[in-house]
Amino acid sequence: MMPRLRTHSAQRWTVAEAGVRPAVFVDRDGTLLQEKEYLADPAGVEMLPGAMEAVRALKDGGFAVVVVTNQSGIARGLYTLEAYEAVAARVNEVLREHGATVDGTYFCPHHPEVTGDCDCRKPGTGMYQAAAEELDLDLARSYYVGDKVTDVLPGIALGGVPILVCTGYGAEHEATVPRETRVVQDFSEAAQLILSAVGNAG
Ligand SMILES: [Mg+2]
Ligand SMILES: [Zn+2]
Repeated sequence: MMPRLRTHSAQRWTVAEAGVRPAVFVDRDGTLLQEKEYLADPAGVEMLPGAMEAVRALKDGGFAVVVVTNQSGIARGLYTLEAYEAVAARVNEVLREHGATVDGTYFCPHHPEVTGDCDCRKPGTGMYQAAAEELDLDLARSYYVGDKVTDVLPGIALGGVPILVCTGYGAEHEATVPRETRVVQDFSEAAQLILSAVGNAG
């Protein structure tokens, strides 16, 4: 991919650097949405309190917001790709209605026991790398937010900031995340932490 000049970042980064924008990568189930275990029905889309406002605040703060989700239910035959897409469309619709459009959504439909190993399933970094290329993101200046160890490990591998939320399965995973992981209550608090870290609080 050819490096492209982005005028808004020209004074801070050189064209030689492929990724120019920091992102907040956010897990879907248990982080943005209420955890429903293999959600396959758009009617079951229920945003966690404060999640939409958090997306909007991060966007206003200059971050790309990218949803990154493991959807092994597809490989396991628990729901179809079409059902996944219907849920994803509903999530985007709800976010859009609240002025919180995300920059992209990446999903892994695999499961190693069914489809073999893949590069995309978290804690693999394939989805993040694809997003970085397609959306011009700087992975090392990005934040990696989710409710499982597998959501924060890619952040460590890619040199960014890992954040565990205590919604979803987060409380169960708190004891096992690497010590450099920040632990917060929910995505709303994660957004506050991120924005205060870059001096955009409020
Ligand atoms: Mg999750
Ligand atoms: Zn995969």
